[in-house]
Amino acid sequence: MVDAAPPAPGSAWEYAPAPESREIVSIAPGYGLFINGEFTPAADGKHFTTLNPATEEPLAEVAEAGVRDVDRAVAAARDAFERTWGPMPGTDRAKYLYRIARAIQERAREFAVLESLDNGKPIKESRDVDVPLAAAHFFYHAGWADKLEHAGFGPQPRPLGVAGQVIPWNFPLLMAAWKLAPALAAGNTCVLKPAETTPLTALLLAEVIQQAGLPPGTVNILTGDGAAGQALVSHPGVDKIAFTGSTEVGKEILRAVAGTGRKLTLELGGKAANVVFDDAPLDQAVEGIVNGIFFNQGHVCCAGSRLLVQESVADLVLDRLKRRLGTLRLGDPLDKNTDIGAINSRQQLDKIERLTAAGEAEGAQRWSPPCVLPTAGYWFPPTVFSGVSQSHRIAREEIFGPVLSVLTFRTPEEAVAKANNTPYGLSAGVWTDKGSRILWMTQRLRSGVVWANTYNRFDPASPFGGYRESGFGREGGRHGLAAYIDG
Ligand code: NDP
Repeated sequence: MVDAAPPAPGSAWEYAPAPESREIVSIAPGYGLFINGEFTPAADGKHFTTLNPATEEPLAEVAEAGVRDVDRAVAAARDAFERTWGPMPGTDRAKYLYRIARAIQERAREFAVLESLDNGKPIKESRDVDVPLAAAHFFYHAGWADKLEHAGFGPQPRPLGVAGQVIPWNFPLLMAAWKLAPALAAGNTCVLKPAETTPLTALLLAEVIQQAGLPPGTVNILTGDGAAGQALVSHPGVDKIAFTGSTEVGKEILRAVAGTGRKLTLELGGKAANVVFDDAPLDQAVEGIVNGIFFNQGHVCCAGSRLLVQESVADLVLDRLKRRLGTLRLGDPLDKNTDIGAINSRQQLDKIERLTAAGEAEGAQRWSPPCVLPTAGYWFPPTVFSGVSQSHRIAREEIFGPVLSVLTFRTPEEAVAKANNTPYGLSAGVWTDKGSRILWMTQRLRSGVVWANTYNRFDPASPFGGYRESGFGREGGRHGLAAYIDG
């Protein structure tokens, strides 16, 4: 055994670069739309470039779906619903879903590297969170496919038909799994539109679906922009719409669907409070705060973007938080030691810069650890605002970046009032030593999910979703299946 010498006083441990190899991924120069089991160019030949946000290097040209492609995909999905997938017994549907889950596991490294390249998230997150959870969603829902008659939906639960699904860029593969797995388990067929900036893992999933031998048309994947999403959600051949994204677009979709009789679930934004009481295990709470807002660069709908800390421990918590943030490593998303990756797009970076500038202009104190940002690509340092009041824009608007707003409270009643002072209602965190206080808080916090002494925990068996401006409907668990069953 070799004794490692301790670092000299004042010096810091440095990590050697540990990049994951990108050799495992082969990115084609161009990709088509996945319609009726085959890759095909867009009807009008349009395409767009997808970039690596960490370097701005173009990765591939991707077909841009138009109205005629949406028509083709919906027709293929309808045909599969009526002739193959819809009438198929649940035991057989389950076999296909297990096959997809196993293929994701077998190709896990490939999915993880591709996700980090196209999205900018650190490889340790795509490897340890996004990809395993995506596989877990297919495994979990495979288990339901032949048990739906026993799930409390009546003796003969029926699928809805064709599901039109639109997903965002923050968890591209995982959101595809959240949408496809329950829909397919219940016997629906799907047309999925990934976000424009992150199409590549959805297209790799299309390849997996092709290899798994699903009947053509069961899953169709249309890459494209907001107009393609709009064409899909307003298509009269779609029976069910599932959307995850901004509240603004969610409201537009709600207006378009109103009165059509089609089913809709919306998973929208959030401005979650992470509430730390003075009796909380503070070191754990600091880890929970970091995980709550700096996981995935804060591009998380349920991010704990408002820290509410009890006044008596506010200085202590802030000191420890700043010390901890000084150890975070920002940089190459493919480096296994990276904690903070790139911001997904220039547009998102502009939004973060705009809102943080407003935070300063409105009088909050801004702090970031010393940190060198790469010169190419889109980057933003972990940032903490203290002295924030409830009227500040950074306390009210979803920033969707690595930016924490810190507010204080004195009593549990004040904590609840401040936590609920938002139009959103997606998630919240509570940190305290007292079980009774956790229950007291969860009864009063107006959010779909409340984590106690932890944050950002996800499980396919656990329903996730919000209310008010965070949307409606649940994903995951038995509740998530209900959104894809008639009745
Ligand atoms: P959007 O809501 O615009 O995008 C989500 C998805 O919807 C994308 O696939 C998008 O396509 C598509 N889309 C855009 N317009 C329409 C439309 N009119 N009808 C149907 N589908 C549409 O979010 P952005 O990516 O523009 O992000 C803006 C803000 O939204 C972020 O800053 C963040 O605050 C919030 N957001 C919240 C998310 C959440 O999980 N709750 C996820 C993403 C963003 P395309 O990619 O081509 O625009």
